[in-house]
Amino acid sequence: MSNENGILVIAESTSEGEFKPATAELLTAAAGLAKDLNEPVSVALIGNGVSNRSDDAIALGADKVYVVDDSVFENYLNETYTVAVAQVAEQVNPRIILLGHTPNGRELGPSVAVKLETGIATDTTSLDIVDGKLEATRSLSGGLFRQKTGFPKFPNIATVHPKSFDGAEPDSSRSGETETVSVNVASGDLRSRFVSHTEAISEGIKLEDAKVIICGGRGMGSKEGFDGLYEFTGLIGESAVASTRAASDSEFCGQELMIGITGKVVSPDVYFAIALSGASQHMAGCSGSKNIIAINKDPEANIFKESQFGVVGDYQAVIPAFLDELKQLD
Ligand SMILES: Cc1cc2nc3c(=O)[nH]c(=O)nc-3n(C[C@H](O)[C@H](O)[C@H](O)COP(=O)(O)OP(=O)(O)OC[C@H]3O[C@@H](n4cnc5c(N)ncnc54)[C@H](O)[C@@H]3O)c2cc1C
Repeated sequence: MSNENGILVIAESTSEGEFKPATAELLTAAAGLAKDLNEPVSVALIGNGVSNRSDDAIALGADKVYVVDDSVFENYLNETYTVAVAQVAEQVNPRIILLGHTPNGRELGPSVAVKLETGIATDTTSLDIVDGKLEATRSLSGGLFRQKTGFPKFPNIATVHPKSFDGAEPDSSRSGETETVSVNVASGDLRSRFVSHTEAISEGIKLEDAKVIICGGRGMGSKEGFDGLYEFTGLIGESAVASTRAASDSEFCGQELMIGITGKVVSPDVYFAIALSGASQHMAGCSGSKNIIAINKDPEANIFKESQFGVVGDYQAVIPAFLDELKQLD
């Protein structure tokens, strides 16, 4: 195919029928590429009962929305969604296709690339246009190296690491077009079936949504020491406790609190890094934080190179004094 044009974003929705944060982030990335190319941004909106959300996609930056609305797409199945994305892509003939590096996107992207017989760059953190083609960058070894990927064929496909871009803000004054695409999923395409969906139960505010994160490392020394961090969340609104891998592996807390390349990726306004060394694998999950405040007894700890504010000292002395100050503010 030739005459490729524009950027196609594959939207993802929550079970409540809203766009996932990854979709707004992809639309920011797509807007930057579209500006460099002077080409449009389109969105593929796939699901059951999704037609009415086309305006939301336009408000977030889509010039055109391709709606694939059918009960067969009620729940994500790799086989059905691959057929839908490939069929939309064949119709749109985009230069670039962007997906979130989410649990669904990291599976869907490669299978779409196979179907369209093209290449893919996964888990990318920045995107540029070089000679009319995508150049996608991703970080390796917890941020120690960067790898740039170019593409010999169109469409150029990339999945984008969460929080690499700020989410686009909706602008209801924007206008755009909507087109319904009917996709045929042959019964022979279906080798799996949807059984059930279970939401993870989490108490309090989700780590990804917290404005302030209090992260404890191995230097907390014990589960009792680590549990003391929850006193912060009682005093600071929209805050949550997190851990390093070493703290989770030491069973100070569950694995679900872990931040890093094998844990969650967060970008809060304030990240307290307490009794943790600042290993690259950990920083890969929190370096997007607006402010990092380190507390560590070792003045040579790497975390002081990564933080805007730091206190050298034993957390057992620093934290009570800090909490006393916080209580005064009430
Ligand atoms: C493939 C791979 C993937 C990984 N993925 C992740 C990941 O996703 N997330 C992650 O976190 N790690 C990950 N790691 C592990 C990572 O390399 C580090 O080992 C880990 O982050 C270290 O955790 P830590 O900083 O809590 O512990 P340490 O490195 O042991 O640091 C403890 C710190 O606490 C300080 N300290 C001790 N006592 C006190 C005290 N009383 N008061 C103040 N400070 C004190 C010490 O000075 C020290 O700096 C991964 C490693 C590999 C190889």
